[in-house]
Order: sequence, then structure tokens, then C-alpha cells
Amino acid sequence: SVPLAFFSGIGTASRRGILFKGGASLEALAEIKAAALDKTGTITRGTFTVTVIEPAANRNADQLLALAACCEQNSTHPIAASIAAAASERGVALKIPHEVEEIAGYGVRAVVDDSTVLCGNRKLMEQNGVSLPELPAAGGATVVYVACGGQFAGRLLIADTVKDDAKQAIAEMKRLGVTAAMLTGDSAESADAIAAQTGIDAVYAHLLPEHKLERLREIRDKYGPVLFVGDGINDAPVLAGADVGAAMGSGADAAIEAADVVFLTGELSAVPQAVALAKQTARVSK
Ligand code: ADP
Ligand code: MG
Repeated sequence: SVPLAFFSGIGTASRRGILFKGGASLEALAEIKAAALDKTGTITRGTFTVTVIEPAANRNADQLLALAACCEQNSTHPIAASIAAAASERGVALKIPHEVEEIAGYGVRAVVDDSTVLCGNRKLMEQNGVSLPELPAAGGATVVYVACGGQFAGRLLIADTVKDDAKQAIAEMKRLGVTAAMLTGDSAESADAIAAQTGIDAVYAHLLPEHKLERLREIRDKYGPVLFVGDGINDAPVLAGADVGAAMGSGADAAIEAADVVFLTGELSAVPQAVALAKQTARVSK
């Protein structure tokens, strides 16, 4: 049975926008030693902006953007939204794509004007045998590569920003004895830049959705009970596999459903607040 103090703890938490689905998760949260945080939408705002459009030699910027936006028009990924916004801002006309297929953790494949167009990360290009030219470093931006008919057509650099309270929230977690780790499908370059800005201790990049659970188990073996915080559809299995699974209120329905705790404000500082409250409640109940 759940001690009475936990009901009071749940009430206090809910007034701060932290929703616990039961007393057991509050109790479990008091014991966590590590927090594994998804990068996009959890540590960062998850609102991307296209900052650089870099067409290959045989194309111009509008053509490249049109190809990318055409593929992405039905995707709900935050990257897709930024590409659609850039295309509409520049008044680029979009063709109708066929056989659109979104590949989680990679990007999108579609047929446009009888050519296969790929729009996604380096892994997507490698998987499809598209050779990439030497390109300058992207300086922490997320890179979206575009290929048409098997040939590199250019790349878009997309910037996301760290949440305002992220650095302070990570420092608070450490003060509470919780090691902060980042799990992301993005590149190591981009992940390391975000880790440096926020003081995150451990970075696991280039992860496919199914590999996040393996890394979570590694983190648990190394540090002890682990909290996972995510926001995406792909995060549901990881949420279920963590000692405590938490979702950002701004996240996908599947993530919110699979979570034990929901942070309605979407602020990262809700994580240390919840941990502090859980520890306090556990002390009172003893
Ligand atoms: P995260 O782990 O940061 O939440 P995801 O698992 O959603 O990221 O995606 C991992 C990577 O896969 C992205 O950083 C991006 O490179 C690529 N990707 C996924 N979906 C798309 C898409 N619709 N368009 C372009 N790239 C995508
Ligand atoms: Mg995500």
C-alpha cells in the first residue's frame, strides 16, 4: 500500500504541473541515480529553424528546398516543420510526392517526378549508397542531406536551441546526486555541442529508436535506478523500460500514455523539482 504522505506529495506536484500517475512512481523517483534525457524536445526546445541552404553544384537553393519540403510535407517530425516553414517563407512551390515513406531515426524517402528523393541524415545516405562530397563542419547544427536519383543534391543546416533553464536544471540534478545523460538519434557533433552548453555528463548519439533501450540498461548498470525523460512516439518503449518514465506535456500522445510522470510545463527544471519533491516525500513517510 502507498503511504499517505505520497498522496500529499502527488497533490503538491500536480499544483506545479507535475502529474504522477500513481504513488509508486513518486516512491521510485526518490531512488533514481541517473536521468537519461532525450535531446530533441526535452533538453532543446524542439523548434528547429533552417539556417543554411547549401545546394550541390548543379542546383540552386530554391530547388533544394522544394525537394526537401516536398518529401517532408506529411511528416510531423519537428525537422519537417522547419523545412515546410522555410519553403513557405521563400514562396517555393511544392510538387506532390508519391510513395512517401518515413523511416524513424533516418528521414523520409519519396518519389518526386519519377525520381527517388531521400531527405534525412548521413545514415540514410549511407544506407542507400549515396556518396557525399567533402563538406565543411556543421558546427553543432542538425544536418539534413537531400539526394535525388541517387545523387547528392545538397544539405540543409537546421538549428534547435537549448531550453533557457536547461543548464540550471542539469546542475540541480547533479546536486541531487543524479547523473545526467543524453540519448539522441542525432549526430555526435550536434549532441556534443548541446552537452557542452548544458553540462550533461554522458552523451549517447546516433541511436536508432530501438537502441535507446539498450543504452538505458547500460546507464542503469553503471549508475543505478534510472529515470528516462522523452517526448516522441519512438520513446514509448524506452519510457516503459525505465525505472521511472517521464514525458514532456508538449510531447506525442503515445509518450504521454506510456509515461509514469508528465511534466506539463515542458520545462527541464520540472525534472529536478520532481526528484526533490519525491525525496522529501520519501523522508516524511519514513
Ligand atoms: P531525437 O533522438 O533527437 O529525438 P529522432 O529519433 O526523432 O531524434 O530522429 C533522429 C534523427 O533522424 C534526426 O536527428 C534526423 O537526423 C533524422 N530524422 C528523423 N526523422 C526525420 C525527418 N522527418 N526528416 C529528416 N530527418 C529526420
Ligand atoms: Mg525525440
